[in-house]
Amino acid sequence: MREIRLRALAKINLALDVLGKREDGYHEVRMVMQTLNIFDKLNVRVTREPGIRIVTNLSYLPVNENNLVYKAARMMMEEFEILEGLSIDLYKYIPVAAGMAGGSSDAAAVIFAMNKLFRLGLTLDKMMDRGVKIGADVPYCLMRGTALAEGIGERLTRLPACPPCFVLVAKPPVNVSTKFVYGNLKADELTYHPDVDGFIEAMAAGDFYGMADLMGNVLETVTVPAYPVIDQLKQFMLEHGAIGAMMSGSGPTVFGLYTDLTAAKQTFYELKKSRMAAVVYLSDVYNVTY
Ligand code: ATP
Repeated sequence: MREIRLRALAKINLALDVLGKREDGYHEVRMVMQTLNIFDKLNVRVTREPGIRIVTNLSYLPVNENNLVYKAARMMMEEFEILEGLSIDLYKYIPVAAGMAGGSSDAAAVIFAMNKLFRLGLTLDKMMDRGVKIGADVPYCLMRGTALAEGIGERLTRLPACPPCFVLVAKPPVNVSTKFVYGNLKADELTYHPDVDGFIEAMAAGDFYGMADLMGNVLETVTVPAYPVIDQLKQFMLEHGAIGAMMSGSGPTVFGLYTDLTAAKQTFYELKKSRMAAVVYLSDVYNVTY
């Protein structure tokens, strides 16, 4: 096999708590992660000439070592002394700098692809050990499904699958850097922490209303004041049939959980027409594994 085509899935956080800041500057988190059926597409080809070539549909994305795809490929080439090259076509559909782990998921896909193409024989755990060197969310992007992420996001526990529902995703026309959000988070002064364990129990019981009551994201304390459109999107979804609505990750993407597909579709079309959202997707929770 000399070529492989893959889908790199986006994630949302159904709950996100920050417990504090560690001495190394990273934050200690507790997050419920969920993959969606929204994805980037990658074609990864082995070439005789050495080096890494990336072609992407987004002209503003770097195609050098600043792209997480490049970083992942180079790390694997160095460790496994791969002398051939790689040519990677990257079709981005996951919104960039949106809190949906697009770059991390692309990096995870490259690690998975190289393991297959070069018959490296790495287990999922071994791929995840490599992935964390590229980014805290990469191990989860290899694991996929419903999971609890702790530590800096790399300590993962598989959870019972989120009950089937529809997820409306809307990214407002602003970009938010994860660095800005964590940099401005006053982790010691947070007065509210979501009940992550209660959320997990409600999810395991298939109790959507319990889930909606208990979902929460402490990073909203930074991103929402900076971009009030996030709150407008949440309110809009809640007034249009969503059981719960929240910002994903460091934002600015907002998602709404729906059990009623008709309401979700109607809101999807209304948001497409509105100025509140630059990108709108309708997905379901997607528990496919690599
Ligand atoms: P997270 O949810 O993990 O915080 P995010 O959605 O906020 O991720 P990404 O879309 O993964 O953020 O990327 C954020 C930054 O990383 C962008 O500024 C972009 O230039 C850079 N980047 C590097 N490689 C990629 C990639 N393959 N796809 C998207 N962005 C990338």
